Amino acid sequence: MLIDTHCHLASHHYAQTSMQELAERSRELGVTHCISLGTHRPDWETQLELAAAMPDYVSACLAIHPTEAHLATPEDMELLQALGGKHALAAIGEAGLDYFHPAPEGCDEAGYHALQRDLLERHFAIAETLGLNISIHTRDRKGSASFDDAVAIARNFPRVKPVFHCFIGDRAQAETIFSGLDGMISVTGIVTFKNGRQVQDVAAWCPLDRLMVETDAPYLSPEPYRGSQNEPGRVRYVADKIAALRGLPVPEIEAATTANARRFFRLPDHV
Ligand SMILES: [Zn+2]
Repeated sequence: MLIDTHCHLASHHYAQTSMQELAERSRELGVTHCISLGTHRPDWETQLELAAAMPDYVSACLAIHPTEAHLATPEDMELLQALGGKHALAAIGEAGLDYFHPAPEGCDEAGYHALQRDLLERHFAIAETLGLNISIHTRDRKGSASFDDAVAIARNFPRVKPVFHCFIGDRAQAETIFSGLDGMISVTGIVTFKNGRQVQDVAAWCPLDRLMVETDAPYLSPEPYRGSQNEPGRVRYVADKIAALRGLPVPEIEAATTANARRFFRLPDHV
């Protein structure tokens, strides 16, 4: 069995999708559970409803994505804290730093990035209070400033373990996450892409107790479905590719990544 550790089931891309059928297709591929992450306040309620309606299949995380940092209010963060106290969240996420997308109208780039760092710190503080881990997004146009800044913030919260989702960095950056932060990485369908060399290298080398797999659905569909709308079941192709890269039987990758996901997201026994 496999767990998709990062998808967005509340996305508007799934407005016409039956979640029952999506779960059925997923189970046929041996993917029995997924972690669905919120990206802004309007989708939080949907995430919680999905997790409540399909507790065997979905666990929810809530946060505000860094590209919406300029829209986040103190009330949003109070609500996040309150919801985290009331519902069994799997983690805080998707939070992070995105220096790739341009700053919104009326915001200069430096100010926008500072807002994002402040918001990421607030997310870490809430995760710490709630005793949860955190799922982190970083993205740069060039260089690694968002990654470096996220690592610096994470160092101030040693009780909160981070997973750097959709990891596309190099071995040295992965090593910083493992030994510097006691964190994890998770790998998407990029590992199946022809131009995914660096991700393939890291996935083939990464210690098995530090690795998780994800789809980032509805985005980043793996080969042979690249370009189409992604679904949690397709994390199967990510795991198969990693097994092939490492020359290991697929069940070994399933067992390791599933155990990691259970531990990191503190999933209940029935999952
Ligand atoms: Zn995501």
